[in-house]
Amino acid sequence: MTGMYDIFIIGGGINGAGIARDASGRGLKVYLAEKGKVGSATSSWSSKLIHGGLRYLENYEFKLVAESLREREVITRIAPNITKPLPFVIPHSKRLRSKLLIRLGLFLYDNLGGKTKIPKSSKINFNKKYKNILQSKFVEGFQYYDVKVDDKKLVEMNIDDSKKMGAEIAEDTKVIDAKRNENYWEITLNNNDVIRSKILINAAGPWINETVNNVLKLNTKKSIRLVRGSHIITKKLYDEEVAFTLQNDDNRIVFVIPYKEEFSLIGTTEVDVNTPDNPAISDDEKIYLINSINNHFVKQISQVDIVDTYSGIRPLIEDFKEASKVSRDYIFDLNVQNIGSPLLNIYGGKLTTYRKLSEKVMEELMPFLPDAKNKNWTSLKKL
Ligand SMILES: Cc1cc2nc3c(=O)[nH]c(=O)nc-3n(C[C@H](O)[C@H](O)[C@H](O)COP(=O)(O)OP(=O)(O)OC[C@H]3O[C@@H](n4cnc5c(N)ncnc54)[C@H](O)[C@@H]3O)c2cc1C
Repeated sequence: MTGMYDIFIIGGGINGAGIARDASGRGLKVYLAEKGKVGSATSSWSSKLIHGGLRYLENYEFKLVAESLREREVITRIAPNITKPLPFVIPHSKRLRSKLLIRLGLFLYDNLGGKTKIPKSSKINFNKKYKNILQSKFVEGFQYYDVKVDDKKLVEMNIDDSKKMGAEIAEDTKVIDAKRNENYWEITLNNNDVIRSKILINAAGPWINETVNNVLKLNTKKSIRLVRGSHIITKKLYDEEVAFTLQNDDNRIVFVIPYKEEFSLIGTTEVDVNTPDNPAISDDEKIYLINSINNHFVKQISQVDIVDTYSGIRPLIEDFKEASKVSRDYIFDLNVQNIGSPLLNIYGGKLTTYRKLSEKVMEELMPFLPDAKNKNWTSLKKL
């Protein structure tokens, strides 16, 4: 048994790491346990974008897009070494979204986040540009900007900062039990250590409900939807430092993103699954992504061109819609059960919004932490 911590965090993905950094900087005593290595689950299986989410505008998620665009600005400022603005080209297809709709979307995308250093969107004529890449049926399109990020590194940098500020970070350490006492939680790890903490935060990503049910042994009213997203990696399909936002017949979009100098990253898919464990791409998903390339690009690819794949599970808040329409926003479930020792469950979220999420977590918990520094600080200090 060790001394008393202020905050214990289950999960060393981007959300757990961001909260650990924010809380440590407020002078709090933080313990984070990660059952694998930090940043090695969902947070390194993403499309590796810090983005506003242009597509979410179609689902009227203006608040989420505005917050994400503002965060895009903040993250590029605090993590300049691992972020890079990148142009995204949308080839226009007459059968799909109208030019007016795309223009309206891009106008909002350019302006919803307020002042930005990231270039604004524009129209593009493919007679002059990308003729070598796109099929001749595409004559015009649009270009906008988003930001590429090293997702795993973003987690590791948050963890490194937390450690420097005194946080205890335990990798390869699974939380197997947690008991609520009047003034503190008693948390049992798989190495039999028992840690005491005033507050418990469940940032287990897609394992959130598994943790609530099997570790905390509580009933949850919140329902989550596990949706697998897969990427394929090929040798680079073109030399230009530009990404493509391809529109598919099912109205979904697929990104083609320059990846690690020599490769193209192509994703993603959306498949409902029952378990967060060991996600892997199916043949159908591979074919879906290959078809998307072959319907747009001059260069045609097949399964033999795939050099690698990875899949991750989105823990989305269930609102009983099609997977592509389910919100990418996050919610907190603060559970105090009449007597002290709060529990905060985190549902959903994006890489892009982790910093703001962490700040809001701290704001929510301030009433229980009278000694913590109240001032928000993470948008100002470089990682
Ligand atoms: C295919 C795909 C593409 C995406 N693309 C983007 C994108 O381009 N941009 C963007 O902003 N967002 C993107 N996202 C969303 C983003 O990746 C996730 O929202 C984010 O990574 C979730 O972070 P997390 O910390 O909640 O979860 P995770 O990264 O999964 O972290 C949770 C951690 O908890 C640990 N854990 C679970 N149970 C226990 C336990 N009992 N004890 C100890 N540790 C435990 C797990 O090992 C895991 O490491 C994408 C998601 C997917 C799936």
